[in-house]
Amino acid sequence: KDVLLDLQDVKVSFETREGTVTAVNGVSYKVRPGEVLGIVGESGSGKSVTVRAIMRLLAKNAIEGPKGSIRFNPNGDQTYDLHELSRDNRQIRALRGNRIGMIFQEPMTALSPVHSIGSQISRTVMLHRKSTKAEARARARDLLERVQLPNPDLMLDRFPHQLSGGMRQRAMIALALACDPSLLIADEPTTALDVTTEAQILELLKSLQAELGMAIIFITHNFGVVADIADRVAVMYLGQIVETGDVDDIFYAPKHPYTQALLQSIPRLGQKKVRRLKTIRGSVPDPYHIPSGCPFHNRCDHADAALCTQERPPLRGFDNGQEARCHFAGQLPEASL
Ligand code: SF4
Ligand code: MG
Repeated sequence: KDVLLDLQDVKVSFETREGTVTAVNGVSYKVRPGEVLGIVGESGSGKSVTVRAIMRLLAKNAIEGPKGSIRFNPNGDQTYDLHELSRDNRQIRALRGNRIGMIFQEPMTALSPVHSIGSQISRTVMLHRKSTKAEARARARDLLERVQLPNPDLMLDRFPHQLSGGMRQRAMIALALACDPSLLIADEPTTALDVTTEAQILELLKSLQAELGMAIIFITHNFGVVADIADRVAVMYLGQIVETGDVDDIFYAPKHPYTQALLQSIPRLGQKKVRRLKTIRGSVPDPYHIPSGCPFHNRCDHADAALCTQERPPLRGFDNGQEARCHFAGQLPEASL
């Protein structure tokens, strides 16, 4: 089997005081073994909610369960229908931290403040693998070395608050990789870091990925980060994927006006001369009032008043595998990037 994770038409809604809000509205994507899929979008686009649906870690006010299907096939034989599992189901608890590793923007959401780094990693190893205390501790030491923490022997007994932000991030990565996951979910893991540390952590993740071969879903709002790490990209807007394709195709020939605008609003990597950046006009509509038709129509320079306000555009496919959810994809002038 060459599909590790297969999402089909996933929908997630929440019950709130203001009413029902749909955060993820029909998302489909596939992740192949060893592939890095970058998911890009502004905050509130549904990127994190989608992966929390995969891990069955949705907030309590989520309407059970997600619509659509989420199938996970970690070792080529057994397929798990994750959409059918409840958050405390035994199967999903056995997969989390084991076949699926997770890293976050804030390491303290994953690390316990009251246990040493070494004991957190070895407890995870012993929870999922048959191993003695000594074996688990040796595994923890090896992982701390792999994530390039200095003095791994000393690090084993350190507590998270004794480490710098970048070092905590490395410790969290070690914990996420404790059981050799086939999928690593990385939700904005470098967003809170300074530029230098961010570059180092991205370098580390790339080399670990090359060495260990796990697939990664890398969530970010930063297109520069995606260009650096991803093989394929999915761009999300208001709970939908609006464009997907190979990273180079998306980067050099984006077909959806939203992707084009996002790319025009970031400084290009290595570009010395500061130029005036284009910003996307208007703001993201609030999720209680998602526009009819194409949800991007109120901000789009190419919107057709009759068509785009009425009809939800289908996903159009192209020969290179690129897909864009726009009535005019492929017919618009190439964006000047
Ligand atoms: Fe713009 Fe219309 Fe395409 Fe939506 S469907 S992105 S409004 S041109
Ligand atoms: Mg988020």
